[in-house]
Amino acid sequence: MAQSLAPPPADSGNRRVVAPSVERIRASLRFDLATQEGYGEATVEFSGGQVDGFPALDLRQEIEWLRLDGKPLAADDLPPTDLGGGEGAEMRVLDVAIEAGTRHQLEIGYHLATPACEKAEPIGWNHDGLRFDFWMSDLHPGRYLEMWVPAPLIHDRLALSLDIHIEGTDRPHTLIANTAGISHSSGRRDWSVVYPAHFTALSPMLVIAPSDEVEMRRSAVSLPGRSRSLGLVTARHADTDADLANCEADLKAWLTYLSSRYEPWVHGDTFWAVVWAPGRGMEYDGATTASVVALEHEVFHSWFGRGVKPARASDGWIDEAWTTWATTSGRAEVSRFASAELGLDEPPVELYRPHPWSRSTPPGAYTDGSRLFAGLAHLFGGADRLRAAMSDWYRVNAGGLVTTDGLAAHLKAWSGVDIGPWWARYVHGRS
Ligand SMILES: [Zn+2]
Repeated sequence: MAQSLAPPPADSGNRRVVAPSVERIRASLRFDLATQEGYGEATVEFSGGQVDGFPALDLRQEIEWLRLDGKPLAADDLPPTDLGGGEGAEMRVLDVAIEAGTRHQLEIGYHLATPACEKAEPIGWNHDGLRFDFWMSDLHPGRYLEMWVPAPLIHDRLALSLDIHIEGTDRPHTLIANTAGISHSSGRRDWSVVYPAHFTALSPMLVIAPSDEVEMRRSAVSLPGRSRSLGLVTARHADTDADLANCEADLKAWLTYLSSRYEPWVHGDTFWAVVWAPGRGMEYDGATTASVVALEHEVFHSWFGRGVKPARASDGWIDEAWTTWATTSGRAEVSRFASAELGLDEPPVELYRPHPWSRSTPPGAYTDGSRLFAGLAHLFGGADRLRAAMSDWYRVNAGGLVTTDGLAAHLKAWSGVDIGPWWARYVHGRS
């Protein structure tokens, strides 16, 4: 799907590597607490790319066996391959040429352990109980779904379903995921999870913990412009120092305000927040795992970042820059809603990584990126003007994938200001 946003073919040796179009991924993740071993099995239904070539997916686990269209391949027929996207941005390239547009099924069996990517978390094998979290990040390549389940790049919408099994314990567990499609066994150690089919690899949240270690509150909030109330699930691990009632009250206020300010809520009928220890926060579609101080920032991302999603990782700077500028998360050097002249004589900054197979957001998105938005606010005649321009951009694109070029065109058309020189210098790093 969304093939026009797929990266163009990449050359690897004498092979042409293409982005396939993934339609469906079904995976089973099995956690055995007795042996502290995990296993994954996945079936990926995909079509070949726009041209014939060797399809690229990713999985940051050790592959044990492979089958293509029912026929066994060698386990190393899907090796990590450098496609020029930068350090750590390798993709696994299937060692079989696939005709453009033809449909196939790839089955993969793998050992489930700490994913092979920067700052990945190990599986929490704790005292007769499992602590597990997808623990995604924009900041390092390979930190989306592909950590645990084979997945394509983030332009590709896919239907994801997971079967989760916890073995070797009698202890009930709680699973929190950002979908209404969860069914579980009576023992609360086996689940079937079906995510919405418009998700991409950066959308799904999954958190599992022993039920006796989870505090959870359920509530609802009435949002402007929505006929039904929005369910609100607020949870924390027992050892996280947070007052859930306070978190819930804040979440209701932010969700109400953002619905009023930026309009359509494009996710499902519930917002899920799992509150964690300080120093972390991650956004998902209509959900977050975040520390108390990061909650506002991450809720904002359900509009910018996961309400409109980056079409490619290179476009991921937009939502971090804008969210930092527009919230009080304390990650910015400029204050919320800052308006400050930005001359064309400061050092150039590259926020948009030009390689089409690059896969991470540069840390400068938070600092230099929010500084750029402060400069744009000044150019536009004030923060209110910039906010109006961005809320129009959100409304036009709500639920869709957005690009850096598309935002530039919108801001220029909306404001009548030629932002080209600022975009060239402070987004593309050209002097
Ligand atoms: Zn963020």
